[in-house]
Amino acid sequence: MIISKVADLRQELKSKDPGAKVGLVPTMGYLHRGHLSLIERARAENDIVVLSIFVNPTQFAPNEDFDSYPRDLEKDCKLAYQSGANYIFAPSDKEMYGANYSTYVNVDGNISRGLCGKSRPNHFRGVTTIVSKLFNIVNPSNAYFGMKDAQQLSIINRMVKDLNYNINIVPCPIVRDENGLALSSRNAYLTDEAKKQALILSRSLKEAKTLYLEGENNAQELKRYIRGKINSMSLAKIDYVEIVDQETLENIDYINRPSIIALAVYFGKSRLLDNIVLEDK
Ligand code: AMP
Repeated sequence: MIISKVADLRQELKSKDPGAKVGLVPTMGYLHRGHLSLIERARAENDIVVLSIFVNPTQFAPNEDFDSYPRDLEKDCKLAYQSGANYIFAPSDKEMYGANYSTYVNVDGNISRGLCGKSRPNHFRGVTTIVSKLFNIVNPSNAYFGMKDAQQLSIINRMVKDLNYNINIVPCPIVRDENGLALSSRNAYLTDEAKKQALILSRSLKEAKTLYLEGENNAQELKRYIRGKINSMSLAKIDYVEIVDQETLENIDYINRPSIIALAVYFGKSRLLDNIVLEDK
């Protein structure tokens, strides 16, 4: 069932068995197999699955791609039902941010300032605001987030702890295409050539992880290696390549705890994200 009003979704969920476990999958739509893996996981672990589809204006800066972000609600609904969603919550901007809207949730500190926070200063404030609203509307037992957006996941974990949300955050592995490119709705913007060149992202991350497992613990060395590989691609423009503590996202020089190598790289107007986890050896 597709629902566009907060009150209707609340009413619908209230009519269910109060002990029913609700799983929430927040998305911006234009669903691909990455999103579907979250819905399938939610289906397996809950009685009711709510998928939200909302291109959230407050997480886009004025110069970003809010207007051109790909949208296809009809196709999304088909895919979502096939994967096990019960409710698709697709509100309007006005429904989520009515007249005189003034309240924002902001996770402060380095966790939000580094990595994507540097080039997108208000982005995570928009994300945590909309995710809080969805948590308050749906009141789920479990909420599902992809590890592709590693910083988003860490910030949401921080918010849940800090604001005492009684919600279990379930991190879901990155889903890739057959060549290793992390699936993203923004891959729709890539030309064939850019798509080919973008394979360097997952390839160089994997190679760096192998170097780490073979004994290289110096973060600068691993970052230099990855940057060199990416810069050999004519269409690539690096935003960042960083190695950070997996929980706090603090930059680290010597890798001696669970960390992630995270990167953001432009290929034309597409800004692609990818990362790889370096577990303790
Ligand atoms: P988005 O629609 O881009 O806001 O993404 C909605 C959710 O799907 C977020 O939790 C993302 O991390 C997750 N997601 C997006 N792409 C992938 C992927 N390739 N693999 C796993 N999860 C993903």
